[in-house]
Amino acid sequence: MILNQANYYSKEADMEYMSASQFKNFKRCEAAAMAELRDEYALDESTALLVGGYVDAHFEGTLDVYRAQHPEIFKKDGTLKSDFVKADEIIARAERDELFMLLMSGKKQVIVTGKIAGVPFKGKIDSLLDADACREMVRRFPETAPVVGFGDGMIVDLKCMKDMHRVWSDDEHSYVSFVDAWGYDYQGAIYQKLEGHALPFVLAVTTKETEPNLEAISLSGDDLDLALSDVEELAPRYAAIKRGEIEPERCEKCPYCIATKKLRRIIDLTELEV
Ligand SMILES: [Zn+2]
Repeated sequence: MILNQANYYSKEADMEYMSASQFKNFKRCEAAAMAELRDEYALDESTALLVGGYVDAHFEGTLDVYRAQHPEIFKKDGTLKSDFVKADEIIARAERDELFMLLMSGKKQVIVTGKIAGVPFKGKIDSLLDADACREMVRRFPETAPVVGFGDGMIVDLKCMKDMHRVWSDDEHSYVSFVDAWGYDYQGAIYQKLEGHALPFVLAVTTKETEPNLEAISLSGDDLDLALSDVEELAPRYAAIKRGEIEPERCEKCPYCIATKKLRRIIDLTELEV
């Protein structure tokens, strides 16, 4: 299957290829990820995703198409719902920042595919900068030189976050950065591997705070290498689950598992996990 902008998000593409978000879904809960692939459960059709898509579409230059395809972002009187008025504010804030706009000046929505540990993966790069753009960045912002490195290019992913605060992790028993909490290290590792030139991976972050915040954050090569080894270790298992060769495991904690939970016995109070 050859991927293009029209079929990238299709069910067939999701069955044939693994993506960063699918990998993260499986890592969170195999049963929920599989139920979503089978159309038995909608994992995340939230307003947050729509706002992210709206901001993405703006920078891709396809906001008109996005607005036409998403009537749910409008109120009955034809004006934008408040979340999308906020999105316009975020966009305007980002456009006032020269470095942010340089980061977003690359080739948009570049589809990359390839195999990782034998598993076909797909990715879509928000802004892929070439060597010229990198040179221009270092010329205008000399402090970006250490991240730009050899300057062959840069993979930029646009994020529209609630905020950039650290997040409590039950797994780690500590606070972790929002980057780790949302698994953006996995996304960076997968995109870098698929793109194939070991380019730096940079998050161009905006926030939905009262005063929208901006940041440009690079993920270190070590973090990406570590994340890639996780992907290489786990992706073959997830692919086998998709092929129906292994039963997906339930996490028993996520909304899907709670929605499909069946009581089988009466537990003792001391067994109750909270
Ligand atoms: Zn679960």
